[in-house]
Amino acid sequence: PVLSAHCSGSSDSGGSEGVADALFRVVVLGDPGVGKSSLVGIFRREQEIHEQQEMYECTLSVDGEDTTLLLMDSWECEVRKPTGSSDSPMRIGHAYIIVYSVTDRSSFESASELRIQLRRTRQAENIPIILVGNKTDLVRSREVSVEEGRACAVVFDCKFIETSAVLQHNVRELFEGMVRQIRLRRDGADT
Ligand code: GDP
Ligand code: MG
Repeated sequence: PVLSAHCSGSSDSGGSEGVADALFRVVVLGDPGVGKSSLVGIFRREQEIHEQQEMYECTLSVDGEDTTLLLMDSWECEVRKPTGSSDSPMRIGHAYIIVYSVTDRSSFESASELRIQLRRTRQAENIPIILVGNKTDLVRSREVSVEEGRACAVVFDCKFIETSAVLQHNVRELFEGMVRQIRLRRDGADT
């Protein structure tokens, strides 16, 4: 496989809360159609932990150490839940991947809005966020340049990467980058 990630469903689905608590919950946000499910799906095998809120547990070996992520493919309707509710996607993630399509400027604008909403909801926390410009393979229909994406990430103080889920380009780098971001904070090396 392109990605050497082991993915598995939970064996004791009765205690889904306990399972989720033991893992790093990485919530994937973004407009419909930008490629969230495709990006996360690269890690998917047969099992799904939860039927409605698609979650995939993946263990990645990065820099000689295993880290398990619970990838939570977001639920377009749930994202519209008031951010005040405790199960809002804006509240439950330890880390976030905000995806837009480089072929869709309005999805890029939505990504900014999501970032602002996240900052407002989780003000005091220094949560890892990676902004992702997906669909780089669609060269001729690109509407958002790599420079714009990068500049946006600087403004919003998050990491940035462009990917193609279809070509599996930079997808491994994306998830490895997420693991490294999470470890930086775990190890207290953030400033
Ligand atoms: P979601 O709604 O954000 O989960 O988006 P999906 O993963 O369902 O993808 C929406 C559509 O975009 C599907 O038809 C995918 O095949 C397509 N798609 C996703 N990622 C890419 C990509 O990197 N390149 C291209 N060309 N198409 C993509
Ligand atoms: Mg989807």
